[in-house]
Amino acid sequence: MNIAVVGAQWGDEGKGKIVDLVAPRFSLVARSAGGHNAGHTVYVSGRKFILRLIPSGILHEGVTCVIGNGVVVDLQALFDEVEELDRAGVTVAGRLVISDRAHVILPHHKDLDRLSETARGARKIGTTSRGIGPAYEDKIARRGLRMCDLADVPALEEHMRRVIELRNRLAGDEAPLDWRATSAKVTELAVRVRPWLADVSVLLDRASKEGKPMLFEGAQGTMLDIDHGTYPYVTSSSATAGGVCTGLGIGPGTVNAVLGILKAYTTRVGEGPLPTELLGPEGEALRARGQEFGAVTGRPRRCGWFDAVVVRHAVRVNGIDGFALTKLDVLDGLERVPVCNAYRCGDRVVTEFPADVRLLEHCEPILDWMPGWQAPTRGATSVAALPDAARAYIARLEALTGAAVVLVSTGPGRDETIVYDAPRVETWFGEGLLG
Ligand code: GDP
Repeated sequence: MNIAVVGAQWGDEGKGKIVDLVAPRFSLVARSAGGHNAGHTVYVSGRKFILRLIPSGILHEGVTCVIGNGVVVDLQALFDEVEELDRAGVTVAGRLVISDRAHVILPHHKDLDRLSETARGARKIGTTSRGIGPAYEDKIARRGLRMCDLADVPALEEHMRRVIELRNRLAGDEAPLDWRATSAKVTELAVRVRPWLADVSVLLDRASKEGKPMLFEGAQGTMLDIDHGTYPYVTSSSATAGGVCTGLGIGPGTVNAVLGILKAYTTRVGEGPLPTELLGPEGEALRARGQEFGAVTGRPRRCGWFDAVVVRHAVRVNGIDGFALTKLDVLDGLERVPVCNAYRCGDRVVTEFPADVRLLEHCEPILDWMPGWQAPTRGATSVAALPDAARAYIARLEALTGAAVVLVSTGPGRDETIVYDAPRVETWFGEGLLG
């Protein structure tokens, strides 16, 4: 089976843990979108790894990792991550393939990101200022630089001269970048990356024909998708299941099932709407219990209750076949737990996520309270170990969103996981997933 994994909310749903758990069941793990801002946190033998660009499958020997054409790659960040993994005893060379159609994030993109965010003032998007947005802008404007362009050194130098001169004009009083020095650095990295490049579409097609199971990893989450998210407070790429196809060069039929990663409550980073946001002590308590701070940036995440309007939207736009529910344990000990199934907007009740996010400024979530559970779910490894109220909460989420929960995560560790829908887990990942 080939499975696509997508975030069902605003990212940071715990995709890293789930992908890491199932990755050994696949021959290939491929990333289809985003840049070095993904920030998957995974724990292996008690050691913490933060993977920004390279799929977490890299931690498992025998798994080939792929970076698709839909990803934008900062060559320096790539090699920094490769070296970090090498130091930790994880060999990347020979196990990572990068699409020759992937676009390159150049040094000046970071400056452009920062400058445009500053220019936006109060309307800022809350980007990570890593140059990812500007690299996608260049891609769409048909003036980007792709991996396959790196071999032509004179053309590369000419490109660098042009873009750096433009950057210097836009940067006003800031110290100018020297295009020759920047170009020399990029050329050096280009030589290093060349052996890693391949036609990823051909590679995946061959693997598919050979019957090798493949895992496709989207970046961020549905509500950050450029088309289906809370525009304009979104990322610059396709974070949904459709983006898996365009970002890797595979047909939709190659994806056999879509696994949505779903947090038991809601978080987001940066600006933009979060209808169930908790601004007071309840939000702080969720943040503290869930350790909701950005893996890459350390930024505190905004927290709120479970929002079924958001997740129904995610189920529909991705075609989610089942969920891995994460961080259920963070809700342990609450007297009662609400779920939001609609918003009250003036005298209207809204049940589908609106296109115009300004509408949400005048909306309130309609909360439906359920009994909480006092016995801990933390570390639970079987359905039987879950308190009745926790099971009722899961059943409610399934009913409101229209998709089944197949795995439940009850802690950051790999073994802190419950196979919730055994037949489906077996079909998707094979027998004995948890050993
Ligand atoms: P990702 O990018 O979607 O993988 O999200 P993050 O890297 O931000 O991961 C979320 C954090 O939550 C990481 O520190 C995980 O180890 C942790 N985590 C994942 N699943 C669970 C869970 O079920 N319970 C708890 N308490 N922590 C979890």
